[in-house]
Amino acid sequence: MVSRVIPVDDFDLVIFGGTGDLARRKILPGLYRRFCAGQMPETARIIGAARSEHDTEEFRRIVREAILEFSSKHSCDEALIGDFLKRLDYVQVDARGEEGWNALKEMMREDVIKAYYFSVAPSLFGDIAERLMSHGIADDKARIVVEKPFGRDLASAKALNRDLAKHFDETQIYRIDHYLGKETVQNLMAVRFGNILFEPLWNSQYVDHIQITVAETVGVGGRGEYYDRSGAMRDMVQNHLMQLLCLIAMEPPSRFDPDAVRDEKLKVIRALEPIDHHHIVRGQYEATDTEPSYREDAGDPRSRTESFIALRCMISNWRWAGTPFFLRTGKKLKARNSEIAVVFKDAPHSIFGEEAGRHANLLSIRLQPNEGMTLKVTIKEPGPGGMRLIDVPLDMSFAEALGEDAEEITDAYERLIMDVIRGNQTLFMRGDEVEAAWAWTDPLIESWEARGDVPKPYEAYSSGPEEAAIMLHREGRRWREIKG
Ligand code: NAP
Repeated sequence: MVSRVIPVDDFDLVIFGGTGDLARRKILPGLYRRFCAGQMPETARIIGAARSEHDTEEFRRIVREAILEFSSKHSCDEALIGDFLKRLDYVQVDARGEEGWNALKEMMREDVIKAYYFSVAPSLFGDIAERLMSHGIADDKARIVVEKPFGRDLASAKALNRDLAKHFDETQIYRIDHYLGKETVQNLMAVRFGNILFEPLWNSQYVDHIQITVAETVGVGGRGEYYDRSGAMRDMVQNHLMQLLCLIAMEPPSRFDPDAVRDEKLKVIRALEPIDHHHIVRGQYEATDTEPSYREDAGDPRSRTESFIALRCMISNWRWAGTPFFLRTGKKLKARNSEIAVVFKDAPHSIFGEEAGRHANLLSIRLQPNEGMTLKVTIKEPGPGGMRLIDVPLDMSFAEALGEDAEEITDAYERLIMDVIRGNQTLFMRGDEVEAAWAWTDPLIESWEARGDVPKPYEAYSSGPEEAAIMLHREGRRWREIKG
């Protein structure tokens, strides 16, 4: 199936931090792919901006290498890459100084969409926003894109929001959470709100519990010291896992428009109950024969930062009262696997007798690897021998269903950048959402810090600490297996 591509209007996109890791790995290869798909107008331009002295030719060489390294092999075509690179310019700008800004202003065209991607440390967001305005570079239709982390607590998130709000209206600010750009995540909304099948069952009467897992096999490696200042709660739960939880739990918005969707997500965050410490398990991976432990990676033998966290969350509203949402994420786990699993309750009565077996329905939404969905349904075991029930998966891999190679499914960043150009904020976090998420997260972190809680050690490449399994066993439930 060939996906339909709707070209966007002409634009100038400035990437502050255009030579950095994120720009090279995700943003620029993503733009190249949109260019190949025919979505970028002929005249659209991308301007890299950073402090280092490069000329445009050098910048194009950096981007060419990034495309060859980070795009799938068969999307790399020398002629197309050459054409794409012609759209690129570079300007030397220091976010904290005055040099370079006038040159940038001269490069910008009138009468096209202007977007500014802040792919730099958050400490520079305020400086860039201010200089864009003081140099008259951004107009009131310009868009700015900001990366995570959006604060490390409520106070810092508020300060960032304030810094941006001094110069830009909320309708101009695009806070990226790339999880929201994933094909599966949007499909989650299509499945929930495009079918009559699921929504009547989507509540505590029929759903036993929900599991959201984001498991990684990598450790914190070279960025251990940086990671040690945040940990799994700040790095993953406060943003990505909570966004997934919101989409699963929210009420149907009246329209698929940015504020209608974000209003509903915000209500979910505000309905989250505080969690007591029996329902939080934090862990740190141990050393293997050949690899260092978390604490060694972090460079602090007494670090109390978690590389794993599991939480049992409850939502105080009519739809979800009594249904636990189990969230789990960690580094150096046994497989790279992100999944949302909706575990339905058992049928109230088995007409086949208990000996036939019982299987709860389950809807699994896979974010990675192999984005797709599986619905487990109960059927009769084929063949003679009476009525025995088994559960079988109705499986839909998006790559197979779309007839495309898995690598060719539009990457989250590509989709989100095109949404910025189109001016569609639906898949971006609003300022009040981010603040509400921190307002819920902060007391949990403060509480374990005040208790002096020490994360439980777990074997590297396992499913995490045993205590996380026990947390579910206590109530007769168990985690889904983490498998790649
Ligand atoms: P990075 O590799 O350190 O790159 C930083 C970029 O910013 C470089 O191009 C650097 O170039 C430029 N820069 C630094 N100081 C500057 C200044 N004063 N004025 C103008 N440009 C400046 O960082 P990154 O990994 O790409 O991360 C960028 C942002 O994305 C961060 O907020 C990070 O948290 C976020 N993020 C990154 C990832 C990822 O996978 N890398 C994932 C999610 C979020 P010069 O040194 O030449 O100025």
